Amino acid sequence: MLYEIKKGRAVISIKTKRAIDWLSSAYLRPTRQRIALAEVLVGDDNHRHVTAESLFDSVKSTGDPVSLATVYNTLAAFCDAGLLQEVTVDGSRSYFDTNTHDHPHFYWEDTHTLTDAPAHQLRITQLPEVPEGAEIGSVDVIIRLRRKTV
Ligand SMILES: [Zn+2]
Repeated sequence: MLYEIKKGRAVISIKTKRAIDWLSSAYLRPTRQRIALAEVLVGDDNHRHVTAESLFDSVKSTGDPVSLATVYNTLAAFCDAGLLQEVTVDGSRSYFDTNTHDHPHFYWEDTHTLTDAPAHQLRITQLPEVPEGAEIGSVDVIIRLRRKTV
């Protein structure tokens, strides 16, 4: 969080303003730790996919002390508030996406990274019939990629 004092007035950086606006859009109180994490997530106005560990490493490099437990709790709070969507690639690996609209993903198996796949190229023409009394909550499309060996 970068505060700059100009002529006795606190001026906040554009990153901090974006972070605070993002938190406010979900009625979350902008605490110091939430702002520090939100700056990393949305400070540059680009969508990103993070794990708790990668976000922890990123925020650590900014010099803001936030524990890994706080990162986990804050990510859960951001998801509950609708600011992030959780994408589970396998049972143990969760990614958090700042793009909360439905869209397909590429999962790069060698680097364990998740990136957006072009949604306009995806066609789902038929889904299996669901069991009686059930309805589809969502359909997650994760395309697993591996590098071609030449
Ligand atoms: Zn995404």
